[in-house]
Amino acid sequence: MSKKQFNVTSGTELRCKNWRAEGLLRLMENVLAVGEDPDNLVVYAALGKAARDWPSHDKIVESLHKIEEDETLVVQSGKPIGILKTHKQAPVVIMANCNMVGQWAKAENFYEWEKQNLICWGGLTAGDWQYIGSQGVIQGTYEIFMRIAEQSFNNNLAGRLILTAGLGGMGGAQPLAGRMAGAVTLCVEIDQERIQKRKDIGFLDVIAKDLDDALAQVKTAMAEKRAVSIGVHGNAADLYEQILERNIIPDIVTDQTSAHDLVYGYVPATRSLDEARAMRKSDPQTLMNESRASIVRHVTAMLGFQKAGSVVFDNGNLIRTHAKDGGVADAFNIPVFTEAFLRPLFCRAIGPFRWIALSNNQEDIRIIDNYILKAFADNRIVTNWIHLAGENVPFEGLPARIAWLGHGERTQLALAVNSMVRDGTLSGPVAFTRDHLDAGAMAHPNIMTENMRDGSDAIADWPLINGLAMCSSQADLVAIHSGGGGYSGYMTSAGVTVVADGTDDADVRIELSLTNDTSLGVMRYADAGYEEALDEAEKKNIRHFNLA
Ligand code: NAD
Repeated sequence: MSKKQFNVTSGTELRCKNWRAEGLLRLMENVLAVGEDPDNLVVYAALGKAARDWPSHDKIVESLHKIEEDETLVVQSGKPIGILKTHKQAPVVIMANCNMVGQWAKAENFYEWEKQNLICWGGLTAGDWQYIGSQGVIQGTYEIFMRIAEQSFNNNLAGRLILTAGLGGMGGAQPLAGRMAGAVTLCVEIDQERIQKRKDIGFLDVIAKDLDDALAQVKTAMAEKRAVSIGVHGNAADLYEQILERNIIPDIVTDQTSAHDLVYGYVPATRSLDEARAMRKSDPQTLMNESRASIVRHVTAMLGFQKAGSVVFDNGNLIRTHAKDGGVADAFNIPVFTEAFLRPLFCRAIGPFRWIALSNNQEDIRIIDNYILKAFADNRIVTNWIHLAGENVPFEGLPARIAWLGHGERTQLALAVNSMVRDGTLSGPVAFTRDHLDAGAMAHPNIMTENMRDGSDAIADWPLINGLAMCSSQADLVAIHSGGGGYSGYMTSAGVTVVADGTDDADVRIELSLTNDTSLGVMRYADAGYEEALDEAEKKNIRHFNLA
């Protein structure tokens, strides 16, 4: 196999027959350009892949080059299956990634079927080419820290310490979000290369020599109330225990190692990184057992911090679930971030919405920032974020921005951008996507839908309805994903992408898909009985049947 190059494409020259296909192709190139292990097609979250294998990748590229405007490419778990004759308003790509039948949806089956090349995991935003680098979760992480500041620290994190772990694709957002929130952030990471990568791309400030050095730097920065992020090499299970033993109690504690995957993600404290990597193939069962045992220690230390007064939360990586399976009965005393901090936003379908400048022109993002500052001047969360992001968040790959926008706001922004593409204010088309972790798009009983008011935590109809509705609303790409690896059987979600190419047809696609997407989000929470969602439905004329 020839060595692949992982570059993004710039400019406005089309290789495909239209911008809808070209845009999706550029997004696929982008997830590899900013991904964690592109040689193996891995984008983030240990195993989240852009395509099943290289022949599948190459066939997707070839298909996007050739596809006509009245055709739809079908992808099954990262492998292109064929092209259907559809019509001009149909999606360019539809895909289903890693969906296994209920009783069979187990990690062991996933690994076996992956080995047989029958399936691959698309993560949330890897398989459907929506990942935009570590900044994809940065506002979510920042908003969590700010909610905690509001609830527990008088709105001020100056001189406060956040302890976390994991500097991978998503976890890498934590140090920058912590700095933007004004705190001192200490990040433990087992892979030296990942620490260096986050420093090189401007997400991490300082690399400490060892734990002593890190804690000395933490102490000085806290005393000076200086916002700084410090990375330290080590295993989180070991270092969390050692920090607790030294009676250093951070103000906030979380973790974003890839704990969901006990084989390909989490590295147990009993193994070096290289040993763990070798065991992934040679002895996955032993590795799985050792990872679970380490997570037991890791979460026990987190509970120790909680008892000593830290605000501790699960950051969406199943660490509590594995700890509980390993015997930590009170693991779920640690709340999950969605329920603890963000659910009122999801009730109004306010969630992580992204846009990507397909021409690779950073100026386009700045023009859109300026539009938002004027058009959403009354929305302090959004304007504050756009200022902060413009000043602090470096671009990775195709220039992109994320902001938490809700019903109506997303449609308004995308229509305005489409008109700026049309009149030449922007130098090229712009793609819009949102995270799967969005109001109407995810069932995940240990993350997104934990403790839903009506008990509907594990009902996966919602993301399936979302995917169907996005196809009937003319989106350009629609994906239905379920968990793989350690997430097998834990989640189902839907993804959507729309390309604003400046055409009148794009106006229709934007209006229908983005409006219906957030309508469904509000309906999902209204149906579960949340007052904020019922209120939003009434205020925004969302036609939800309020049946008991
Ligand atoms: P990743 O695989 O890119 O990075 C994980 C990092 O954890 C790696 O750098 C790895 O070396 C490190 N690590 C593993 N075990 C460790 C240990 N014991 N001690 C210290 N470091 C260790 O994964 P990612 O994309 O950063 O995602 C991290 C987790 O967050 C995943 O479980 C993912 O599913 C979850 N996630 C949550 C959200 C959210 O919205 N909160 C979003 C995306 C991903």
